[in-house]
Amino acid sequence: MAITDKATETPSPAAPAGDHLPALVEGLRRVFDSGRTRPLSWRHEQLDGLLRLLDTEEERLVDALAADLGRPRLEGWAADIGTTANEIRHLRRHVAGWTKPRRVRLPLSSRPGRGRVVAEPLGVVAVIAPWNYPVQLLLAPLAAALAAGNVAVAKPSELAPRTSALLAELIPRHLDPEAVAVVEGDAAVARSLLDQELDHVFFTGSTRVGRIVMEAAARHLTPVTLELGGKSPVIVHDSADVEVAARRVAWGKWLNAGQTCVAPDYALVTPALRDAFVDGVAAAWRDFAGGGEARASTDFGRIVTERHTVRLAGLLTGHGGEIAVGGEVDEGERYVAPTLVVDPDPDSPLMSEEIFGPILPVVTVDDLDAAIAFVAARPRPLALYVFAGDDTVADEVIARTSSGGVCVNQVLLHITPPELPFGGVGPSGTGRYHGRSGFDTFSNLRSVLYKPQRPDPALLYPPYTRLKERIVRRFL
Ligand code: NAD
Repeated sequence: MAITDKATETPSPAAPAGDHLPALVEGLRRVFDSGRTRPLSWRHEQLDGLLRLLDTEEERLVDALAADLGRPRLEGWAADIGTTANEIRHLRRHVAGWTKPRRVRLPLSSRPGRGRVVAEPLGVVAVIAPWNYPVQLLLAPLAAALAAGNVAVAKPSELAPRTSALLAELIPRHLDPEAVAVVEGDAAVARSLLDQELDHVFFTGSTRVGRIVMEAAARHLTPVTLELGGKSPVIVHDSADVEVAARRVAWGKWLNAGQTCVAPDYALVTPALRDAFVDGVAAAWRDFAGGGEARASTDFGRIVTERHTVRLAGLLTGHGGEIAVGGEVDEGERYVAPTLVVDPDPDSPLMSEEIFGPILPVVTVDDLDAAIAFVAARPRPLALYVFAGDDTVADEVIARTSSGGVCVNQVLLHITPPELPFGGVGPSGTGRYHGRSGFDTFSNLRSVLYKPQRPDPALLYPPYTRLKERIVRRFL
């Protein structure tokens, strides 16, 4: 089922946004209730279908990503197709084991008996995706949902329209079209979707919209996974190899022009390292651009919309810091140069809003304690990066701060192994996915206790005697 709701941009009274959704969700629920999605063979077929989609349609997907985001081919393949296929292959390899009831050891008080945890699908789930990695962030959660045996409605982002239309065409072709629906459209369609009675909502996007999603889901007591954003800091310790740290952070801001949820947002460095770090980032960006301007490089992406370009231009004013590198913005071309701002005002919008663009503030702090205090005083981020010559420094930072994930001596890559659960904490999100954690997110982990019919000790039953009380107290 692929439904394009063009009416959502200007809903007309005759065809309000998403008026087809009640029937769509009802149809999906009928398929779920029939039991069709439960067998392992169905789940394998869906995961195989997703892998086939990524394999056979790779060229068209990469073209759509380039059209929507000016995404270089290698970046498009690696971040949206290769990474997603890797995650799906992991699910395909392990789903048979995860669907088996898991034995648990019972305490003496529960014996004789057997304990099992049985993963059952939740039902009709919705996956709502953002535009920045529009293939990965729709298909990876969808794969987890299908591996867990659910039926699903997938809503791609309207801000990546070519990719959205292509996925709406391809998903029904490669997956069970009666169990997986794609609904295209904007916020109004997403709101109508959230008005339906769903069994889980998996939302990836901004913290602002995350609040709206959670409120809407609460009306039906629908559980949510929120994969949100925030300002992910980098701490560069004096013991770090500053050249490598600068190059890796520079890459994290260059990739997808900084429009990555776990992109390093700002860097904290001591006075001893500051100039070397700033020079290192500048040199890395020059090298990435082949010695010229990033604007002329086919390896540097563009900002998704003119509105976001204007927003980034706004962040480059009134920050009170010094622009050491870059600063050029071309709104018509949706180009923002890789830009480094030294010592902006910590209360400026540049330092309080998620940047989501190729701008790196570098803030000088006295020492490690000051860096930790800076991070700990702000909303808990999605990712935290520490560069240090010694893991004990990283461990100290980990012990004294909080974040969804941590990557030591690198950026972004902690999200790639399917074995590491991915998600935020507090305002950067709630819930986890990737690998087993995604399967669990989309499952009801049902506890089952099997008891034999006999013995049937009188211990539990009244009349409650002193002797029974003594025995119960001893064994419970
Ligand atoms: P967004 O919140 O504007 O939109 C995300 C999705 O929500 C889209 O499909 C959109 O149509 C829908 N939506 C928009 N307004 C809505 C509303 N009022 N009610 C219901 N749905 C609505 O986010 P975006 O601009 O597409 O993406 C950028 C944000 O996403 C950044 O904050 C980034 O950090 C975050 N992000 C997080 C992750 C992660 O895995 N944690 C990954 C990518 C992006």
